[in-house]
Amino acid sequence: MRNTPPFGQDPFRFSEAPPRSLCTDCGISRTDDPKACGRACQFIQPDYPGLEARIHGRPRDPAKADELHFGVIQRMVRARLDPPAKGAQWTGITSSLGARLLEANLVDAVLTMAPDPEDSWRPVPVLVTQADDMAGVRGMRMGFAPLLALLKPALQAGHKRLAVIGIPCQVYALRALETELGFDRLYVIGTPCSDNTTTEKFHDFLALLSDAPDTITYLEFRPDYRVELRFSTGQVKTIPFLQLPISQLPQDFFPLTCRTCVDYTNSLADITVGYMGGSGEQWLIVRNERGERLLDQLSDRIDMSPLQTGGKRQNSVKGFIANTERAAGGLPLRRMPDWVRPLIGWLMPRIGPKGLEFARTRVEMKAAETVIHLRRTLPRRMKHMIPRHVWALVQPYGLAPDAEADREPSQAD
Ligand SMILES: Cc1cc2nc3c(=O)[nH]c(=O)nc-3n(C[C@H](O)[C@H](O)[C@H](O)COP(=O)(O)OP(=O)(O)OC[C@H]3O[C@@H](n4cnc5c(N)ncnc54)[C@H](O)[C@@H]3O)c2cc1C
Ligand code: SF4
Ligand code: SF4
Repeated sequence: MRNTPPFGQDPFRFSEAPPRSLCTDCGISRTDDPKACGRACQFIQPDYPGLEARIHGRPRDPAKADELHFGVIQRMVRARLDPPAKGAQWTGITSSLGARLLEANLVDAVLTMAPDPEDSWRPVPVLVTQADDMAGVRGMRMGFAPLLALLKPALQAGHKRLAVIGIPCQVYALRALETELGFDRLYVIGTPCSDNTTTEKFHDFLALLSDAPDTITYLEFRPDYRVELRFSTGQVKTIPFLQLPISQLPQDFFPLTCRTCVDYTNSLADITVGYMGGSGEQWLIVRNERGERLLDQLSDRIDMSPLQTGGKRQNSVKGFIANTERAAGGLPLRRMPDWVRPLIGWLMPRIGPKGLEFARTRVEMKAAETVIHLRRTLPRRMKHMIPRHVWALVQPYGLAPDAEADREPSQAD
């Protein structure tokens, strides 16, 4: 890739990140103004309604279909690129949006994550200025890397029209600081994100899935309740969720940040490109006019169709909450007998929540996980970290603020 490393800067020589208790190393703490974390961090005192109002023109409206779960929605569709982009995580809508913006000269650069040349699972921030080079950033990597540390270098290099592709905790900090940074134009393309962990720990997980973990080139948690693995040999393997060796993972496999993350669907992006609600295809949430103009860029090669939905989420979410409470209390997970697992594994794709209902299920599970883990580990952070809409998502399951003190006063009414 012509643009790596950016500006002759070795991406591994970012300045040291000061230690912080809840931090996914989005890059702000490594800039010349690390105190900006206080204004920028989703783990300190986020203001989702205020930022939604500035970026999308209004905060999410719980009375509008699905906005409580997914944030401000201008429209949602099921979509796929035809033909799919080689090497993409799904069909490559995310990276192709960046490529088209560069081709059309609508941006000077795209800030995103490339694979580390030594370890393709490790993300490395890059500024891409040539459309062809977006092919090299396709695919999902597990781990954290200081994407936003390249914002100021981008501006200093004259890239005042920028597109950023990021996961929710990166996009939150970007949006919180956007007005101070002075871009002429900013497009934000977000992906959903959940259950991230360090690249090192992810390699331990791969080692539990295969005798040849170094040959695994692709992994995805599919909405048909199976994990798909692809290997450098060309082999493809799927494993039902219930057969995954989750119980063999150490307690700290998922960091507290990702167990208490309140923005699964990247609500501050102009467009969110995921798969959860897509029933086997991609799932797009266009959030504002800029997101609509982004999607226009792919109009000649994208197939779109209405989203589907099916099943009921409540029992799945209740079961998840019971297990999360046991695990957070240090108790072993309630495991079903081995002989039942194949049967349930067969039944889940048939009777479990599907399409949009699957996405709602996952969002409610994450909301409950946030409340349970914060209450156990950092109860004093709850009133600042948990937005009002997250309380509304978990309220049907009997989870509520212990006292008014748990709820952020400015969100109370
Ligand atoms: C850790 C993680 C967890 C995710 N969990 C979910 C989920 O639960 N549900 C869901 O619907 N979608 C999830 N996604 C998004 C999903 O994996 C796809 O990236 C998304 O659907 C886009 O597919 P695509 O083919 O359009 O992407 P591509 O065109 O292949 O482009 C992928 C883009 O993602 C960027 N990227 C890759 N890894 C990272 C990373 N670690 N940090 C930041 N940016 C990265 C790449 O640089 C590239 O720009 C997750 C992504 C990540 C990184
Ligand atoms: S803003 Fe970013 S770097 Fe700063 S504490 Fe939060 S996640 Fe860490
Ligand atoms: S789960 Fe949340 S906190 Fe963790 S990496 Fe993803 S967006 Fe960031």
